[in-house]
Amino acid sequence: MNKTPSKKSPGCDEMSTGLLSVDDAKQRILKNIFPVLGHEKLAIRSALNRVLAEDIQSTINVPPYDNSAMDGYALNSADLPASGHTSLDLVGESFAGRPYIGSLECGQAIRIMTGAVIPDGADTIIMQEQVKREGDSITIQTGHKKGDHVRCIGEDMRVGQTILKRGQMITPSELGLLSSLGLAEISVIRKIRVAFFSTGDELKSVGETLEEGQIYDSNRYTLYGMLTRLGVDIIDMGVIKDRREDVRQAFTDAANIADAVLTSGGVSVGDADYVKEMLEELGQVNFWRVAMKPGKPLAIGKINQAAFFGVPGNPVSAMATFYQFVQPALQKLMGMNPSFKTLLKVPCMTTLKKAPGRLEYQRGILDYNEEGELSVQTTGVQGSHILTSMSRANCFIILEADCNGVAVGDKVTVQPFAGII
Ligand code: AMP
Ligand code: MG
Repeated sequence: MNKTPSKKSPGCDEMSTGLLSVDDAKQRILKNIFPVLGHEKLAIRSALNRVLAEDIQSTINVPPYDNSAMDGYALNSADLPASGHTSLDLVGESFAGRPYIGSLECGQAIRIMTGAVIPDGADTIIMQEQVKREGDSITIQTGHKKGDHVRCIGEDMRVGQTILKRGQMITPSELGLLSSLGLAEISVIRKIRVAFFSTGDELKSVGETLEEGQIYDSNRYTLYGMLTRLGVDIIDMGVIKDRREDVRQAFTDAANIADAVLTSGGVSVGDADYVKEMLEELGQVNFWRVAMKPGKPLAIGKINQAAFFGVPGNPVSAMATFYQFVQPALQKLMGMNPSFKTLLKVPCMTTLKKAPGRLEYQRGILDYNEEGELSVQTTGVQGSHILTSMSRANCFIILEADCNGVAVGDKVTVQPFAGII
């Protein structure tokens, strides 16, 4: 065989089958994606689900003062009885938002509520249930120690501390943090624009009538859902016919208006599959065959400045390749820090068929079995056209390339949808 010698061994990059391993494909995609640069200032509520463009440093302490974690009585630990009990004079009260003015002397205590400022001279809170009160005097027993039920100044966030990092997605907890710091506005990375379309002469859109040999386009809807959840600006370019000129025009238009172009269908080597050819003509193909199932043909590349992702037409393949490859790439483009993907090892309650060769993302249902143990079972038939398998599933069962089937009780790796969708 007269092949150009490769610098890398076949097992490392391209497998002996000429397919790229899933891990290599993921790395190659991410290596070629760079975060967009623009950013904008937004009121914090509008920044929900956006990506932080700056590190956030705290300019205040949270909490801003020592305060009580309980409803009870504040006192000085020097007054705690070493044995027996002791009585203290009640000299006032401190409510949340209405502090006690003054400091405590030896032998004194104040009534204090949760969140109220602990005055000078006090360093310990006794829960009200543990105190005997008679008029303006309280009696306490042993069993308490200095600092009990005190929330210290800066315990949550300290002045000068970096609280959030650039690249962090703003979720409800970050909105809370930002508002605890008193920040009304923050700088977020601009939204990316993703243009997407389906390719296929057989495709009709919802609301149209099917004729012989036609099917409804479902990928544009699953892609719409997945992209919308990611928080990108979407440009839906509809269905493009399997004609060289139409595909060329659609690619050119999409690359002109978007940061990323996403197509489905037409990535195989059939007579009507123009995606790879057009990508070669207009831009560059990075790779297009991956040792995974579903989703072997997958065109990855670039047209001008736009990242290009051509996922396969089969509906399950389109979703699986989106989640494994396109989503992390778009997250990097959005400026997000790579997110942690939850993987669990659980016993499989059903047999799984699998031939060695490609890594498979089978669809599974993760649940507790009769023994109360978290386990997974197959959704049933695994064809890449069986979209009900995605709807019934709540996880992918990831079977490594060399696996040749799973017996009941074998441990398998699952990737719950909740962590990735
Ligand atoms: P392709 O990747 O274009 O060869 O398509 C593979 C299979 O997926 C064929 O059975 C197509 O009819 C089907 N398919 C392609 N695009 C879509 C789509 N947008 N919605 C539903 N099925 C599709
Ligand atoms: Mg097609």
